[in-house]
Amino acid sequence: QPVIVAIDGPSGTGKSSTSKAVAAQLGLSYLDTGAQYRAITWWMVTNGIDIDDPTAIAAVAGKAEIVSGTDPENPTITVDGTDVAGPIRSQEVTSKVSAVSAVPEVRARITELQRSLATSAEKGIVVEGRDIGTTVLPDADLKVFLTASPEARAARRSGELKSTDIQATREALIKRDAADSSRKTSPLAKADDAVEVDTTELTLAQVIECVVTLVEE
Ligand code: C5P
Repeated sequence: QPVIVAIDGPSGTGKSSTSKAVAAQLGLSYLDTGAQYRAITWWMVTNGIDIDDPTAIAAVAGKAEIVSGTDPENPTITVDGTDVAGPIRSQEVTSKVSAVSAVPEVRARITELQRSLATSAEKGIVVEGRDIGTTVLPDADLKVFLTASPEARAARRSGELKSTDIQATREALIKRDAADSSRKTSPLAKADDAVEVDTTELTLAQVIECVVTLVEE
């Protein structure tokens, strides 16, 4: 019986590192749903779509062909055959992704991709995102909601970006989380049956161990 694990939470909580490691350790597939929203945002930017116009975004929501490789040791993402793993992490995409992912037609499209990948994973899958436990996979075997203080999240993100400007990172993070939490369709939220893990005082190894234990229980 394949096991489905949903890991949600805001950015900078260690979601990606945790999800990848848990999947690798348990021999499961891995899906980064944020990368999919970033990929469609990259396509919108590249094709000159006005990010402030939800109607324009909705009209082309089905155009990009997004393919996610689900090996936790080597997750990949392509748009129309182009490897976009690098460009989707740009500041431009990061600043625009919340607006694009708030458009219901975009969410419907990406959610469909996510469900099809999750149900076809032979041994099971760890899916990380914002609305996996609440909307995408409400029947997941385990739902985890990761949290951390804003300071801890900004410090972790700044480390990843090799930036020393923690204050600016903190503000951008808070702004993105507020947008993700307040949108009408499938906002960032903890499912009622999710286990909340506050990672502020934990090392990555401790968070991984905690989630692996929860899966095995
Ligand atoms: O996880 P990551 O920070 O890469 O996600 C980028 C953005 O994608 C989020 O800020 C959010 O706007 C969107 N997202 C979403 N639903 C998900 C995953 C990501 O709306 N399940």
